[in-house]
Amino acid sequence: MTNELRLDPLTGRWVVVAYQRSTRPSAFLDRDTEIQKDSPRECPFCPGHEEDTPPALETYSEQGHWLLRVVPNKYPAFKGDEPMVAITKGPIFTTAPASGIHEVIVLSPSHNLGWSELSHEQVRLVMKGIKARIEAHSDSQVIRYSQAIVNSGREAGASLEHPHGQLLATSFVPREITDELAAFSRFLGGCVLCSTMDAELAIADRVVLEDNDTVTISPFWASQPYELLLIPKNHQEHLHKATEDELDSIAVSIKLALGSLRAHLGDIAYNLVFHSAPYREHGRFHWHVHIMPKLTTRAGFELGTGVMINVVPPEKAASELRPFLARLH
Ligand SMILES: [Zn+2]
Ligand SMILES: [Zn+2]
Ligand SMILES: [Zn+2]
Repeated sequence: MTNELRLDPLTGRWVVVAYQRSTRPSAFLDRDTEIQKDSPRECPFCPGHEEDTPPALETYSEQGHWLLRVVPNKYPAFKGDEPMVAITKGPIFTTAPASGIHEVIVLSPSHNLGWSELSHEQVRLVMKGIKARIEAHSDSQVIRYSQAIVNSGREAGASLEHPHGQLLATSFVPREITDELAAFSRFLGGCVLCSTMDAELAIADRVVLEDNDTVTISPFWASQPYELLLIPKNHQEHLHKATEDELDSIAVSIKLALGSLRAHLGDIAYNLVFHSAPYREHGRFHWHVHIMPKLTTRAGFELGTGVMINVVPPEKAASELRPFLARLH
């Protein structure tokens, strides 16, 4: 059975009903088991196991050894190039093909080093790989939107230990993005993120890091402890149209931000999300990166109302992280 999209008429959100992903390794971990602690000998992402993944779509190598690989996901949530056509089966049941692309980006040959521990050169290469794939996805006629994510740690949804990210391309624009697009339209004072950046820099309380091209803040509206937002200084809708310097700066800012979280809080789980405008969107977006540490669980109230309760005010979070960042520089 191929995966399908089903429309939730209560929220207007698409759900992917996946038929194969539950058979992937450790699909349902009980809360007490560790994430799959593959030794490097068994890990499909370690050097020497290239045959265990589908052939690479992108490989960056040096002196005969690969440094970065992008491979198709063996258990894709989105696959194929059927156009987005919603099929209405009566007044309630609406489906569409779960077309798209689902890839894995292996962050480095090292089994144990996450983004914060990789070298500056390596994290720059990771951003280069992400940009190359998002650019490649734009060639497809059915793809409207691509997103890069990194889930680190079991609580954040990682099923394999070897640090990796995912690239997902969809034939529709997901609701989180249409909500953000609406926010850009709603804000009448220019660009909402350019304005946020200026306002946060003026106050400085919630700024954790600034370099020539990127500002990292714990935003005024942070909904979870130590949530961070990375805003490129240059107003640009699309990640894949950012300059090399801007991408290098984001790569290193993510490394330092994650490094400060690790130094302060230990080896915590987190989600890293890259938000870029839909491919054919012009003028109403500013690409950015969210870092969402997984320190709390969404409970009934948060799930039932969408109202989050943040127990660490972002001003406090930023002031706690800044000393660690000063040391990491
Ligand atoms: Zn490995
Ligand atoms: Zn802007
Ligand atoms: Zn966003």
